[in-house]
Amino acid sequence: MQFTYHNPTRLHFGRNQFGQIGREIPKDAKVLVLFGGGSIQRNGVYDQVSQALSAHQWLDFGGIEPNPSIETLDGAVKKVQEEQIDYLLAVGGGSVIDGAKYIAAAACYSGYGWDILDGSHKVRKALPVGAVLTLPATGSESNGAAVITRTATHEKRSFLSPLVQPAFAILDPTVMRSLPDRQLSNGIIDAFVHICEQYLTEPTEAVVQEGYAEVLLRNLVALARSYDHRAEDGWQENLMWTANQSLNGLIGAGVPQDWSTHAIGHELTAVFGMDHAQTLAVVLPALLEEMIINKRAKLTQMGERVFGLSGEAVAEQTIVAIEDLFRSIGAATRLNQHHISRNDVATELLPALQAHARWPLGEKRDIDLARCEAILMRAVG
Ligand code: NAP
Ligand code: FE
Repeated sequence: MQFTYHNPTRLHFGRNQFGQIGREIPKDAKVLVLFGGGSIQRNGVYDQVSQALSAHQWLDFGGIEPNPSIETLDGAVKKVQEEQIDYLLAVGGGSVIDGAKYIAAAACYSGYGWDILDGSHKVRKALPVGAVLTLPATGSESNGAAVITRTATHEKRSFLSPLVQPAFAILDPTVMRSLPDRQLSNGIIDAFVHICEQYLTEPTEAVVQEGYAEVLLRNLVALARSYDHRAEDGWQENLMWTANQSLNGLIGAGVPQDWSTHAIGHELTAVFGMDHAQTLAVVLPALLEEMIINKRAKLTQMGERVFGLSGEAVAEQTIVAIEDLFRSIGAATRLNQHHISRNDVATELLPALQAHARWPLGEKRDIDLARCEAILMRAVG
């Protein structure tokens, strides 16, 4: 095992933490507050941010959509350059925070911003970013990853740079009170799949990473089983902290990873417009069924330690338990429930995947296009 672990984001967790924003951002910095479709203006979060920034000079830029598009974000890049902005404050879920990371890098690059996404430009400079998290799911508030869509070409791609990782994040679970059920369910699923992608590979000697992954998985199972209590403060606090810890670099340090569920899921969003987490709920069970040869030992370990399973065929039982978990919180787990057919997969999805994925996928680099087709045909249902 070999890794370098460094997570520099300062997290301010709990109620009454908005005041930290004013202390975190230098007093002489000119700030651009970034937000989405207006939920923060309806639930009071915008007012709390505005109060926290009362001693700062700041402007705002709203309208960043779910699955943020480069077309929208480039409007903010222009504003950053024209207004000589020094600091970006993202207030929202993964989409706004990912969008802020792109803006931070693109504002310091004179070429076309998509170069950052297609890998032809490596980020060398970026504006500082802070985050106020309003939707626990992605872990984007304390990692260096961002996923951006180019609407014109139906592409959804990611980039990773330590330079865009937020310097600080406010995690106040009371902001979750206005979240619709669909987003709470999405949050559980996205975090659950992030853990699976860093855990469901082959057995390792990494007892800390594996043990911590199992605790996080058990938390998410418990949150799904107590879903009726989702309006309670304790339930919301635990989801916010668990989702954050699921993708902050710790459980993935030095262990094999398999991000193929996300890679396939990104194409489903780009082509059919499905919610990010809804794509994962469909792809993961089918992928585990198809790739069970690689994953049997770890699925068995997960079944025993997370779901308390025993007896025959624990690996197979674990896949069923995962699918049942997603269903129990209202997610569809087959593409036909999203009205996507085998023909849609063959004619629209597979060509897009062929063109955009970083082949081959999987921790053993053994998922090629034919394997993806087999996974997706299972996923249709
Ligand atoms: P999101 O796209 O940021 O937000 C989804 C919806 O929830 C929006 O309509 C938003 O409304 C609403 N919302 C957010 N907070 C709310 C609140 N407190 N009350 C009411 N409504 C609220 O969802 P997300 O799941 O967090 O982010 C998904 C994106 O992150 C995808 O593009 C995905 O690919 C990406 N992702 C990134 C990472 C990473 O590591 N960086 C990992 C996984 C996924 P408003 O627009 O009005 O705010
Ligand atoms: Fe995700």
